[in-house]
Amino acid sequence: MDLFEYQGKQLLARFGVPTSDGEAVDTVDAAVAAGERLGYPVVVKAQVQVGGRGKAGGIKLAADADEVRTHAGNILGMDIKGHLVRRVWIEQASDIAEEYYASFTLDRAAKRHLGMVSAKGGIDIETVAEEDPDAIAKVHVDPLLGLEDYLARQLVFGAKLNPAARTGAIAVLKSLYRAFVELDADLVEVNPLILTPDGRVHALDAKVSLDDNASFRHPEFDEYRSFAGSLDPREQAARERGLNYIGLEGEVGIIGNGAGLVMSTLDVVSQAGGRAANFLDVGGGAGADVIANALEVVTGDPSVRSVLINIFGGITRCDLVAQGILEGFARIDVTVPVVVRLDGTEAEAGRKILADSPTEGLHTAATMLEAAAMAVEFASPGARGVPENKGA
Ligand code: GDP
Ligand code: MN
Repeated sequence: MDLFEYQGKQLLARFGVPTSDGEAVDTVDAAVAAGERLGYPVVVKAQVQVGGRGKAGGIKLAADADEVRTHAGNILGMDIKGHLVRRVWIEQASDIAEEYYASFTLDRAAKRHLGMVSAKGGIDIETVAEEDPDAIAKVHVDPLLGLEDYLARQLVFGAKLNPAARTGAIAVLKSLYRAFVELDADLVEVNPLILTPDGRVHALDAKVSLDDNASFRHPEFDEYRSFAGSLDPREQAARERGLNYIGLEGEVGIIGNGAGLVMSTLDVVSQAGGRAANFLDVGGGAGADVIANALEVVTGDPSVRSVLINIFGGITRCDLVAQGILEGFARIDVTVPVVVRLDGTEAEAGRKILADSPTEGLHTAATMLEAAAMAVEFASPGARGVPENKGA
């Protein structure tokens, strides 16, 4: 999960990384009020999860309330590389002597953490890596030992930072590394990390990406997730029900168990000439309630014209899946045809449950390909007797 700049900076500040005081606001009036409280000059910063906001006009200095009003008015609602700006961060402006780059991430191949520092900050690190790779100092950190002092020094000296920035930069790196580990982050990146004319080292931007697999031990992650606008509403609905869901562009809604099976199902749907509307993995051991929830999420998408449920029972029992499908039909108004293919554990019992309880709009198929062909046929624009899905 990627965080917005202001969320990342607020987290890093908790670990002792120096950042500027600021406020996240959604309206022009609130931006002005924030400016009045913080004192001028301030910077008005678009909060979108994409780099290069500065170049796109999403970051402006404001010397007084009028300028905050003008800039916040321009930036709120702006489209930056396809991202709508719904919130701005107003912070006390900093004086900049130099701009650096600092980050920690995972180097999976090396099985180590990777720290990087460059004296060429404020521009994309990818550009620096391409044009001047020697300008990036790198160290691998053994996760069991942590960022020992000598490694932090190696980064700062290796990047040839201004001697005036050394002590401050080493302190920032140690805080940044602690944040990276304790937050279970995949990435913490500060670009630019600045040296001020009076010799302080300070984070002006932050990119923090948290590892969703660690959310069980970070209840605070939910707060970030719940900020609307970052998730597709279908993904939000699925997440609330504990389902792994990704929205796609097609018309055939997919429900399967296991990422591998769901991916094969997408392939088979395109082999049959259709397009999948989503990826939904109900996971192993899916019971009736999970299946009913999945059906609710998928049929709630108005672009879905048919649903293909493809279950291979291992731990998951097909009889429970069949019950879940019937529960789903009882609970919600399913207005599109649903094709079911069950195989594996208790598949016969599952098929019998479906056969014994004839439900309008519910179809079964013996094989995956047959099921996909049926679902694609139902989803085709000319399919007869298929009412338009208005969404649940
Ligand atoms: P990005 O373009 O999305 O990476 O946004 P940043 O937060 O990194 O800001 C881009 C650039 O705006 C920085 O590299 C700075 O040069 C400039 N900038 C941001 N905040 C301030 C500030 O407080 N004072 C000054 N003078 N410049 C700033
Ligand atoms: Mn930046």
